This record gives sequence, structure tokens and C-alpha cells, in this order.
Amino acid sequence: MVLTPLRRRVLELVWRSHKPVGAYAILSALRRRGRAAAPPTVYRALEFLLEHGFVHRIASQSAYVGCVEPGPHHAGQFLICAKCGNAAELNDARIERAVGRRARRLGFAVERQTVEIAGLCPRCRPRRQARRTRRKAAPKRTKSRSRRRG
Ligand SMILES: [Zn+2]
Ligand SMILES: [Zn+2]
Repeated sequence: MVLTPLRRRVLELVWRSHKPVGAYAILSALRRRGRAAAPPTVYRALEFLLEHGFVHRIASQSAYVGCVEPGPHHAGQFLICAKCGNAAELNDARIERAVGRRARRLGFAVERQTVEIAGLCPRCRPRRQARRTRRKAAPKRTKSRSRRRG
């Protein structure tokens, strides 16, 4: 496997943010750095990075995001914030296996699996709502039992 300078540069550009990056944003970033590349070249570089598990494709945005555990091929599950656009990867093998099992049962051959979950990240959620969830996660101890009556 060869990571040519262009592939490396494209990978760096994908990794620059937690937001999925589209091919055209990559093209214009390359152009700004004086490395004009033809669209097919960039698409081929992205396809290479995808095939070798360096990036995932977020189909709903026609964009790419860096993989948190590059290397072995795996399906990614992404929590995508509808407000800021950040994508957090779950990379949970149990979800991947469960989807694969159900698909096989239906006679479906899975070629690529990416699960996209839309919602709001902790930073974009309304404050009050976020606080309420935290409180529920760590319930307060009740003191009534130890209190004396009278
Ligand atoms: Zn990944
Ligand atoms: Zn957000």
C-alpha cells in the first residue's frame, strides 16, 4: 500500500475537522495551497483512502470523515450533529455484526456498511435539556429514610 503525497495531503485535509469534508472542499483547499489537482485524481485518492480504511464516507452529505481506528476494515456508526455538522464515530462491532446477521438472513450481501444517526451533539443541545439528562444518569440519594420522625 502506497500513500502518495497527494493521498497523504487529501487525508490531512479530511482530518482537519470533525466535520465530514466534501471532495470539492478538498479540491479548493488543494488549489489554495498551489497544488491544483483534477477532480478525478482527488476522487481516486478518496476511493483509495476509503478502500484502505483511512476514511469513511458519509452518504447523506456526500462527504468524508477520518477514521478513528484506521486499518482493519470495519463499518462505522456516526452520530452526526444536525446543527454544527460534527460527526463522532462509534465503531461498535456489535452493531456491525447485528446488521450483518439480519441482512444475511434476508439473503442480502453487504458490501459496505455505514450507519448514520442524526441528532444534536452535547455542545449544540439546549443547556437545560442536556442538564436534565445528566441528572437522570446520576440520581440523588434520598435522605428521607435516615430522617427521624417526630
Ligand atoms: Zn472507522
Ligand atoms: Zn453540534
